[in-house]
Amino acid sequence: MTTNYSYLAGLSCPICGRVFDAGRVQTYCPDCASPLEAVYDLGRAGAEVRREAIAARPKGLWRWHELLPASAPGHTLSLGEGDTPLLPLPRTGSALGLRHLYLKDESLNPTGSFKARGLAVAVARAAELGVKRLVIPTAGNAGGALAFYASRAGLQARVYMPADTPEANQIETRMAGAEVVLVDGLINLAGKQAGELAATGEWFDMSTFKEPYRMEGKKIMGYELAEAFGWSWPEVIIYPTGGGMGLVAIWKAVRELSELGWVLGRPPRMVAVQAAGCAPVVRAFEQGRDACELWEGAETLASGLRVPKSFGDKLIMRCLRESGGTALAVSDEQILAAQRRLAREEGIFAAPEGAANLAALEQLAASGWLRPDERVVLLNTGTGLKYLDRAAL
Ligand SMILES: *Cc1c(COP(=O)(O)O)cnc(C)c1O
Ligand SMILES: [Zn+2]
Repeated sequence: MTTNYSYLAGLSCPICGRVFDAGRVQTYCPDCASPLEAVYDLGRAGAEVRREAIAARPKGLWRWHELLPASAPGHTLSLGEGDTPLLPLPRTGSALGLRHLYLKDESLNPTGSFKARGLAVAVARAAELGVKRLVIPTAGNAGGALAFYASRAGLQARVYMPADTPEANQIETRMAGAEVVLVDGLINLAGKQAGELAATGEWFDMSTFKEPYRMEGKKIMGYELAEAFGWSWPEVIIYPTGGGMGLVAIWKAVRELSELGWVLGRPPRMVAVQAAGCAPVVRAFEQGRDACELWEGAETLASGLRVPKSFGDKLIMRCLRESGGTALAVSDEQILAAQRRLAREEGIFAAPEGAANLAALEQLAASGWLRPDERVVLLNTGTGLKYLDRAAL
């Protein structure tokens, strides 16, 4: 089934190992209620594809097409996502006693967040497999990203979002012609309603971790980081965790790049940052559990982190454990202070979710968890410009 354009070989359940046909529309493992992972023929890809050839291609996420699911060049979908800058943070780094601090600025993606990566790939693949109508629950940015990529692909989109989702997300989604359904609750209720619509068979559910290909788009953040660090890993990657898909996706990139033989060094320690008002991953990590419990009364201004329980919770916990990482929570006040600090010290207007990473870094640097010479990457997952309704100057 693999072609020279994509080495996709199938899908498999990371919990029970059951294999699924990637040539058909798939959701998640019915036995484990676990996300599925795309599996590539990495032995053949490692032998036939040269990473230097990929580096020489035009910029963007699709230059890694052999490791992505679209089966032919005409089946990709792009608004210019990927190849975001890796910016050194010299002032903040030296103030915190860190000599090699970086921020990967995902705010430069279309629709102003890294959600573009996952949805570019997932919408492209859904269209390739013949899907016509897409539905998604969102805490904010995923709805807008779905709406714009659906427009690009000529598909219909419906978005379920909490009624208090940032105005920018509501407006952008409507701007792209998607139908917006406001929900009197959080993303898990939106997810339930989207799931009920998908159960009619007329709509395909693009929820985080409930279809296999958003993860593929997001894993390219890991490929870009490995390339930027000269085919090695930074010691630490810090990620603002809502559904946790980016965290799990970067960890998938670590495994794939090792199997490809392209990065053989020590893998990064993965850090999950959450808001104190919604920290199910932090609680499970501290209690040594391998799954999360639903967080009651979730509340934070960092809307992307307001996810009471992720469908991929076991994969998140596995990533933190396997990588020797950690999880920690920060308050909304600390997030707003970190947002101002990044803007004033380094010239970056981060989304609150991205700023949360700096707030967490301040704690990690003070605690001695980081050594001064370690290379540390903060992921700024979105632009602060989409959250003007909650900015504090
Ligand atoms: C969705 C989102 C997150 C959380 O991403 P997950 O992969 O769901 O953990 C973080 N930041 C921003 C800006 C987001 O839109
Ligand atoms: Zn399974």
